[in-house]
Parts: sequence; structure tokens; C-alpha cells
Amino acid sequence: MLENLNDRAWLDPPDNEAKKVLKCYFCGDWIYSGDDYYSLYNIDCCEDCLNLHYRQTAEFIDYQEEFSDSECSEIKE
Ligand SMILES: [Zn+2]
Repeated sequence: MLENLNDRAWLDPPDNEAKKVLKCYFCGDWIYSGDDYYSLYNIDCCEDCLNLHYRQTAEFIDYQEEFSDSECSEIKE
């Protein structure tokens, strides 16, 4: 019985393999069916490249201080 089951598993084609659907615009890696990907302005992008190309770190900029700096340089000139 056990031998029969093993034979069947060996003969069955591996149809659970993910199918290639899209190529990432940036790295050219395949995006397989069932994978998450990101579409930005019609550019297909994998998650890795999304982090690489689109992720930004928000930085607090003190605009008032920058403004007063430029005022000072204007006065010097
Ligand atoms: Zn990519």
C-alpha cells in the first residue's frame, strides 16, 4: 500500500509549481502567480525593488531654521 502511494507521487507532474506571470521592471526577476507585486505608474515591481526604489524615510525638517539661515546669508551679501 505504502509503495503504491510513493509510486503515484513520483509519477504525478509537479503541477503545484508557481507559474511565471510578470517580470520586475527593475531587477528582471520573475513574479510568479500568487506572488505579491506592485504596479506603480504601469511599472511592475517586486517587493524587494519596491523597498529599494520607492521606500523613503520621513525626516523632520525644521523649515523655520532653514529659512532663517538663508536670511542670514542674504544679509551678509
Ligand atoms: Zn525587482
